[in-house]
Amino acid sequence: MIISTGTASGKSLAYLTPAVAACLDGGTVLYLTPTKALAADQLRGLRELRVTQLRAACFDGDTPFEERTWVRQHANYVLTNPDMLHRSILPRHAQWSTFFRRLRMIVIDECHGYRGVFGSHVAQILRRLRRVCARYNSSPTFLLASATASEPGAFAMRLTGLEMHEVTVDASPKGATTIALWEPPLTELRGEGGAPVRRTATAEAADLLADLVLADVRTLAFVRSRRGAETVALTARAKLADVAFSLSNHFPRTPHSDATATPEQTADHHASASEQRAGIADHLDTRSSARADEPSAEAGNQPGAESGNEPSEKAGNQPGVEAGNEPGEKGSNEPSAESGNEPGEKGGDERTAADELGKESRERGAVPDSSLSWALPDMPDQPDWSELPNKIAAYRAGYLAEDRRLLEKALRAGTLMGLASTNALELGVDVSGLDAVLIAGWPGTRASLWQQAGRAGRDGRDALAVLIARDDPLDTYLVHHPQALFGRPVEAIVLDPDNPYVLGPHLCAAAAEIPLTDDDLPVFGDTTAAVLDDLVAKGMLRRRPAGWFWTRRERATDLADIRGGGGAPIQVVESSTGRLLGSVDEPSAHTTVHTGAVYLHQGETFLVELLDLEAGVALVSSATPDFTTFARDITDISILATQRSQPLGPGTLHFGEVEVTRQVVSYLKRRLQSGEMLGDEPLDLPPRTLRTRAVWWTLPASAVAPLAEAGIDLGGAAHAAEHASIGLLPLFATCDRWDIGGVSTELHADTGLLTVFVYDGHEGGAGFAERGHARAVDWLTATREAIVSCECERGCPSCIQSPKCGNGNEPLDKRGAVRLLDTLLPPQ
Ligand SMILES: [Zn+2]
Ligand SMILES: [Zn+2]
Repeated sequence: MIISTGTASGKSLAYLTPAVAACLDGGTVLYLTPTKALAADQLRGLRELRVTQLRAACFDGDTPFEERTWVRQHANYVLTNPDMLHRSILPRHAQWSTFFRRLRMIVIDECHGYRGVFGSHVAQILRRLRRVCARYNSSPTFLLASATASEPGAFAMRLTGLEMHEVTVDASPKGATTIALWEPPLTELRGEGGAPVRRTATAEAADLLADLVLADVRTLAFVRSRRGAETVALTARAKLADVAFSLSNHFPRTPHSDATATPEQTADHHASASEQRAGIADHLDTRSSARADEPSAEAGNQPGAESGNEPSEKAGNQPGVEAGNEPGEKGSNEPSAESGNEPGEKGGDERTAADELGKESRERGAVPDSSLSWALPDMPDQPDWSELPNKIAAYRAGYLAEDRRLLEKALRAGTLMGLASTNALELGVDVSGLDAVLIAGWPGTRASLWQQAGRAGRDGRDALAVLIARDDPLDTYLVHHPQALFGRPVEAIVLDPDNPYVLGPHLCAAAAEIPLTDDDLPVFGDTTAAVLDDLVAKGMLRRRPAGWFWTRRERATDLADIRGGGGAPIQVVESSTGRLLGSVDEPSAHTTVHTGAVYLHQGETFLVELLDLEAGVALVSSATPDFTTFARDITDISILATQRSQPLGPGTLHFGEVEVTRQVVSYLKRRLQSGEMLGDEPLDLPPRTLRTRAVWWTLPASAVAPLAEAGIDLGGAAHAAEHASIGLLPLFATCDRWDIGGVSTELHADTGLLTVFVYDGHEGGAGFAERGHARAVDWLTATREAIVSCECERGCPSCIQSPKCGNGNEPLDKRGAVRLLDTLLPPQ
């Protein structure tokens, strides 16, 4: 059974009830989640049930060895992840025999995370799990929980290999969520080739996060990259630090300093309170509608001036706070007006100004000039301003366990009000009680968008979600085409369990667990026999009359790197202290911790002194550069086999196998906040070869000749179309642009024609290019639309420029790309 419904629709209850019942009945339950953090959260929930017969325990990389034996022998509800299942539980199934014999139910939570290559690996791990269960004569029920997806039953069947029932009706009560689509403005800055630079989504997100936290709105900002999340946290904290600095200057902590205050002095305090408010206003860079829709509790209490439902009035020079509907009233211009309001009350009073502000805050309904006080609702309780920045933190997968737990705890307790996170949190950690969600950059799929937006809104109350567009053709397309987001079914979850690069290692692992027999072939899919022959020929498996055996000394499970990276992870180490900051997988290391890269950890910035691939270490040191870095690669592609071809306009569309050689050759430095380009530094890293699948299209010379005659740079037009189409493919396949790559040329050696390739960035392919092939007309039409939608003149990062282009975004021809796609696409 698969339950595929939205966030907070009660999926957990739906699987917990039968799962706990199975345990009470003497059975065991295996609970699988993509992340350790989610397992820890689930465990907490289970313990809160206080069912004594329920012996729930996590079994993951954080579980101390002395506890593992207890878990194997005594736990009846085991929470783990696919990695542990793959590397530890299945290979040592004999130690788990008691558990497997009584196994009644397998819960696969947040299973929409199992897509692409990772999903394909998990599909094979689940087939191995089914074999092991059969060995112990158990046939557990599979219960899957997923975010909304189209055709969840078909997906669940691909994932488990079993027939599935689907439950898709969500009848849970919900408040309304206001969704804002937010396009940052073009700035005066000029980037590569003189292109205008758009304000970065992370800069916008950091501003909004700081604003919302000051307004006491619990906010989670989702940022696509771990680096981006850390930049947002860092920037928002810096803004709060500025606010805290102003506050501490104007409101020193010791209340006694006011004990002998004369009315005059008190008035001074009020003057400075106004200055300080103005100061806060400067720090709070409020722009338009998010504020207007924000569901903060305060807004409701201030039906008057402050609810700020007139964005036009707020904009502008009074970025401040609230908004300044009536600048004259705001006091920043007329400080004396404020203190004049209640002279009697204040004159002989010994309260500090902070108390006063706090009082205003409490009584803001009655105080006409309270326009700023809502921003500081907790002032009397928080005299230590230096703590203010600590209300915001960053969170991502890849942190050491103790760091993660601390952050989760603080957020639950409310000592943290704002969090910037990668999608590590999207995968179900239960952070309840959020009011607003900021989504910096398209999260890749409609399913993810709704999943992330669904985190805002506590107890059925209304909520706010803001999608902030990045400099990216897909983001541009979506904020200009809301119809592509609303009222449409979400994407299908794509995976390809038959990928031979995935299947091979799991067949070895399965043979090492229990020798494979002919009966097992159907379990692993149609291509199994061919892949087995290949493994025997390579000496990986031995064929004997009784079946296929693993006879090598090494561990078979080491062959499969299920998180898709390949190679051992690179340890990130601080050179001065030897402190281990975290790890990155080897292919990512080329782009994220190359020598010279800016690396962020928990809001701290580091510069990579040296990436040593041999030693598997990146040495970093603490630094505060005002730029970020972007690795760029160059790519060669050759066609190995064409599997499908069909006409497309005057051209041809193909799908097949390719060999790609990629090399990170340099890195781009861009100014942290503005995105302005600062330079391009060369790198010396080895090329990486990839055998994968690609979709490509060609146009004959007769079709492109008229374009060339019209003065179009064909190479630049093809290059621009390639960049934009890479940007748009994620709208049709559940991938992101970093999962795919492209090559374009006016004349490709293998086709002899103008050719544009888009390939899967994973060994063996992951189903993305195949999906692009299947939806080519829609995909390329949206690509054309995205280019046309952008208001820049000659191309910018929001349409045809790519941050990872190894050719420095040269040549690019924006109008040419539109003409080229018009030529290719059939008239509508
Ligand atoms: Zn543009
Ligand atoms: Zn390029």
